[in-house]
Amino acid sequence: MTCVFCNIVEGKIPAKLVLDEPELLAFRDINPVAPTHVLVIPKRHIATLAELTEAEAAIIGKMFLAARRVAEMENVVARGFRTVINAGPDAGQTVFHVHLHVIAGRRMAWPPG
Ligand code: 5GP
Ligand code: ZN
Repeated sequence: MTCVFCNIVEGKIPAKLVLDEPELLAFRDINPVAPTHVLVIPKRHIATLAELTEAEAAIIGKMFLAARRVAEMENVVARGFRTVINAGPDAGQTVFHVHLHVIAGRRMAWPPG
């Protein structure tokens, strides 16, 4: 089974890294929708939030702490930033390795399209 984000973790495909920590990675989205668009992922493969187990729950909290650090590094905390995890087809999940979008740098609409 090939997973594009596991390939990034393993260095098999390049990414613009923002954070590289023992349990997680943050890198710039290849198709950014805002001036800041970073993906925070666990290094261990978890396919989707829809299948998250109790044992995997702690990493999700760490991903949000990493997202805040990314926002601090990007200087967007005061203006604001959006964190999104898409799960399943209606939400538009396209990569089945859990990832937290950190999006900022422009005014965003709500509700999302
Ligand atoms: P999803 O739609 O699953 O929530 O988000 C997947 C995201 O991964 C998309 O925003 C897409 O642009 C990004 N993406 C897909 N493939 C790659 C890749 O190879 N490298 C990077 N940096 N981002 C990717
Ligand atoms: Zn993976």
